[in-house]
Amino acid sequence: MTKYLLLLLFFSSSAFASLSFKWLGITTFTLSDGKTTILFDPSLTYVSVLDFLPWKKIQTDPSEVDYWFNRCGIKKIDGVFVNHAHYDHVIDAPYVIKKYGGKLYGSSSTVNVGLGGGLLRSQTEIVRPGTTVKLGDFSVEFFNTPHSPHFWDVMLADGHITAPLIPPANVMDYRVGDSLSFLIKHPDGSILYQAIGRVEAQDPLKNVKAKVLLLTVANRRSSDELIKGRVLGAQVSQVIPLHHDNFLLEKPRDGSINILWGQKLDEFKSSMKLAAPKVQLTWPKYCEEIKI
Ligand SMILES: [Zn+2]
Repeated sequence: MTKYLLLLLFFSSSAFASLSFKWLGITTFTLSDGKTTILFDPSLTYVSVLDFLPWKKIQTDPSEVDYWFNRCGIKKIDGVFVNHAHYDHVIDAPYVIKKYGGKLYGSSSTVNVGLGGGLLRSQTEIVRPGTTVKLGDFSVEFFNTPHSPHFWDVMLADGHITAPLIPPANVMDYRVGDSLSFLIKHPDGSILYQAIGRVEAQDPLKNVKAKVLLLTVANRRSSDELIKGRVLGAQVSQVIPLHHDNFLLEKPRDGSINILWGQKLDEFKSSMKLAAPKVQLTWPKYCEEIKI
């Protein structure tokens, strides 16, 4: 009898956990418990390298957003959280909120993307590090993790968006603003979304512990720094890497993933095996449901 009770407990706590993660490319992902669905960094619109030219302008491609939402089975959103206001994290936020619901949470720059995209002020909220937003059984806490430079000391689209950004706009108009990481707590488990591929000496996430780590691996200084500084530091049991797909190429619809140039993912995998052998490393596929 005890055996069955233990089995029941085991299955009710893990296999039947209702919390799930779905990745839609770059750092666009949903977390859902079946009642509440929250979305991070909506960026489905394809922007090519030619769109970076100074006279080019970009805007949401509704057909691309709808295609991926439909494919991933996303019908309704309760909240949209954006880590920083570069186009590849925020471009589709206004469209998604108008069509699928929810409110936009992020920096003042992110909120200016929302307002320029036609959201009402009541559909946006500027959030500050150290504060928490509650949605259903989720609570989302914000941490200030400044964006790393793209090359040497240079950061593209640096600064803040100080007025509503009305699309179409140039890639460089999507200025970074403040950059946030998120600790998402839920009765089924805690998830840390680290939005930058580095661990700085002044580490705002130093004391954070979580069950699952959603880890930006793009633009990392070294795998060891991330693994020792964050994977082991936060005592996570699972790592799901993000931002390793090539968003400068059209997203394939055949299930394959183009890897971003220079990512050295094999080196990351072997470093994980050496330094954190007990931590499960899960490479997500587009729209695949991963139970947390
Ligand atoms: Zn960025």
